This record gives sequence, structure tokens and C-alpha cells, in this order.
Amino acid sequence: MRSEFRHRFRDDSRAERLRAASATVVVIGAGQAGLSAAFHLQRHGFLSAIEHPDASRTFVVLDAAEAPGGAWQHRWESLHMATVNGIFDLPGFAKPPLDADEPSRNAVPRYFAAYEERFGFPILRPVRVLAVERADDAPDGELLVHTASRGASGPESGAASGPGSRTASRPESGTASRTASGPDAGAASGTTTWRARFVINATGTWDNPVLPDVPGRDRFLGRQLHTRDYVSLDDFAGHRVAVVGGGISALQQLEEISRVAFTAWYTRREPVFSPGEFDQETGRATIEKVTADVEAGRPTGSVVSYTGLGWTSYARAARDRGVLERRPMFTVVEPHGVREADGSFTSVDVILWATGFRASLAHLDPLHLRNDLGGITLRGTQPLAEPRVHLIGFGPSQSTVGANRAGRDAVAAILRSLGAPQRVPLGPPAPPPVTPSPAPHPQRA
Ligand SMILES: Cc1cc2nc3c(=O)[nH]c(=O)nc-3n(C[C@H](O)[C@H](O)[C@H](O)COP(=O)(O)OP(=O)(O)OC[C@H]3O[C@@H](n4cnc5c(N)ncnc54)[C@H](O)[C@@H]3O)c2cc1C
Repeated sequence: MRSEFRHRFRDDSRAERLRAASATVVVIGAGQAGLSAAFHLQRHGFLSAIEHPDASRTFVVLDAAEAPGGAWQHRWESLHMATVNGIFDLPGFAKPPLDADEPSRNAVPRYFAAYEERFGFPILRPVRVLAVERADDAPDGELLVHTASRGASGPESGAASGPGSRTASRPESGTASRTASGPDAGAASGTTTWRARFVINATGTWDNPVLPDVPGRDRFLGRQLHTRDYVSLDDFAGHRVAVVGGGISALQQLEEISRVAFTAWYTRREPVFSPGEFDQETGRATIEKVTADVEAGRPTGSVVSYTGLGWTSYARAARDRGVLERRPMFTVVEPHGVREADGSFTSVDVILWATGFRASLAHLDPLHLRNDLGGITLRGTQPLAEPRVHLIGFGPSQSTVGANRAGRDAVAAILRSLGAPQRVPLGPPAPPPVTPSPAPHPQRA
């Protein structure tokens, strides 16, 4: 399998543009988890692999997105700061007060952009990691991180934040992104292989939406979309919409759409609403359960499968308007609707698959991290099958607070593996002046 991949990669028609680069640590992904890892690496004396390629401890962050913000830049328009579950500050630089009515897709990326600018991390984007493989069979040998990027003028230019790089303004995001002076710089469209001692993988879930395999799905004549394609309720006015899924996103989108359209709500299992508030204790208990699963190598479920659903403002609103009537999952999709579990037919012209996401890890397939159960057995942030890799924002760290901690823990484990005396952590530089948002907003837990 591994050699097959290598063969395919080396035969690529763009192979002449393949460049080599190296870093002690390659971080994949610049969402909450990747930025936390970058912060702790920098704090412990790791230097930019772009600016200081010959230093003894270096790092680089490779991010497939075109702009800062991780998955937040893609969230739907109507997911405002007031309706997110609560977003923890990134380490070392608190977010400014944010307007509760501002879409999270604007507010959070703006904060991430300021954070990147503040610390000048060596982030290359948009650079997608296609595959990670072992350079050889030595257990402490190098890992090869194969990437693809497109030129500075195209959607996959190599761009880095960090001192010393050339600046290109991005008016649409209101931030500045900087063109890399490193190995991906100027690559009109090409591939780079990074050699790394460690990989911190922080690729989130947004790129891996789950679509259940329901018979007839491809014969439906109406519109089908996934949560990640949802924009706002305006697209649904006057339609008949089947909303599929029992998670938080499904509930939010059901509540919104039901204000302007007929909705029918389908879940595989009877949804379980937790009577109490979600507090720190609930969070701790959930993390313990998920940790137990990943340590035993069991595949983890959705967040809601551990916590149940909360009686949030939108859940109560949906209940009060009588739309929180769950139907058992339909059995077949037909051209103009769905066949109910009891055999009756319901006509719909839109199916919204609010069926969640799984970890985006396909690029790690050459490492064969999965066990026979289909899970990845972890010790801390390290897969048992490959301790040079750290998975953060994964399993028990799949939340903004968990991602923060996992970034810190992964760096601590790497420092232990490197063994040499650690540098005294440098304190983070003073934060830049922040322009306050119109109204302060209390964080929801
Ligand atoms: C709809 C929704 C709402 C949520 N709301 C909350 C909330 O309110 N509070 C909370 O704590 N958690 C929330 N979460 C969970 C949330 O996803 C995490 O808390 C956190 O934001 C994820 O951060 P991350 O860094 O792990 O991933 P992401 O933010 O997804 O960042 C991953 C980054 O990796 C990049 N990437 C992916 N694949 C590659 C690749 N192959 N090569 C290079 N780069 C790659 C992506 O482009 C992206 O920039 C929510 C999740 C969803 C789906």
C-alpha cells in the first residue's frame, strides 16, 4: 500500500515541482487545535522552519484553508456568537469582546487572524496534506508529509503569516495574509514533501461530512444538502423539508427552517434530552467517557451520543411551536419524498442531512493507525500504532477547550521524546491593541 502510494506520487506529472523541506514538527491544520500547538511550540523555543531551516528545533503549520479561521470560516450565516456552545480563548491572547449577534463565521476567523498576526507563526496556506507516510522502517526515523499547493494568485497559493514574509492584502477577509518565502513560495502549482520527526495532526472534522447510505438517495428529484452547505433559513421558505439527524446542528437548523417551511424531523434513535444544565461536571464526565473509548481503541460516537441533547433556547422554541416531533428514520428516498418507517409516504422537496462529521484523517491512511475495531487507540494524544504522530482536536479533545489542552499536551510529549533540556519558555509578547466590537457578549457555557 505504502509503495503503491509512493509510486503514484512520484509518477505525478507535476513531479518536477516536487521540493523537499524539513521541520522537527509539522502541524497539519490551523484551527483552534493547530494554533494551540503552534503557540506551545513557539513558547518552547521551536523556530520557524521557513525562516530558520537550519535551527535545531523547528516547526511549520500547513493549512488547507485559504484564510485564517479553521472550520469557523465555513459555519452557516445564522450561527451567531449567541448560539454557539461557547468558544474558548486561544492560549496567550484572549479574544476581544464580541457582538452576540455577529455570525461566528466572521467573528472567530477575525480573532484567529489577529492571533496568527500577533505571534507570527509560520503558517503556509492554502497547502493541503495529501498523505503522511514513514520514510523508512526505523521507529524513530522521519515522517514524510506530502502536500499540494497552488500558486500565489490561485486558490492554493503558499501563504504564510510571519515576520519577513511579503504581504498580500485580502480585502474580502479584512485581514492580511503573507506570501511564503519558504519552500512553497512561488510554487505556481506544485507539491512539496516535508520531512518531519513529529506530526501534530489538527485537521478537525469539517472536511469529512457523514452522509448515511439510505436507499434511493440518488433518485431524489428535489434538493439534498448537508449541514456544511446550509446558509440560512431564507433558502427554504415555502418548501417541504426533511431534516435528518439528532445532533445540535440538526436541532438548530430544524428550529430555523420550521419558521418558514413545513418540516419533518427524522432520527435513527429516539433523541435523549438531558434534564439538567450542561456544566463543567457534564463536560468532565463526557471527556472521561470519550477518553475511555479511545484508550480501549473503540471508535468514538458523536458528542450528543455521550451528552444527550440540552434544552437550549432553540430546542425550547422548536418544542413550543410543535415542530420537535421526531419521526423514526425513513426507509427509502423516492423521487418526490420519503417512505416512512410505517410504510406511508411523505412528500418533501428538500432533504437536509444534518448527520454530522467524522475526523478528517484520510491523509494518515498510509500509517495504518486504525485497529480491527475501526478505532484509533490513543495514549494521550499519540496513536499506539505511531507515536510520532499526535492527534489533537480528536476524540476527547474535540472542543475548543479540549483542542487547547491537546495542543499543549502534544508539545509536552514531543519535548519529552526529544529528551534534550528544554528552553525556558519565552513569555508571549504583549497583545496588540484590539478594536472593541460594538457590544460585549457573555460567553455561553
Ligand atoms: C457546527 C459546529 C459547531 C460547533 N460549535 C462549537 C462550539 O460552540 N464550541 C466548541 O467548543 N466546539 C464547537 N464545535 C466543535 C469544533 O469543531 C471544535 O471545538 C474546534 O473548533 C475544532 O477545531 P480544530 O482545530 O480541531 O478543527 P478545525 O477548526 O476544523 O480546523 C481544522 C483545519 O485543518 C485544515 N485541514 C483539514 N484537512 C487538512 C489537510 N489534509 N491538510 C491541511 N490542512 C487541513 C482545515 O482547512 C482547517 O483549517 C462545533 C463543531 C461544529 C461542526
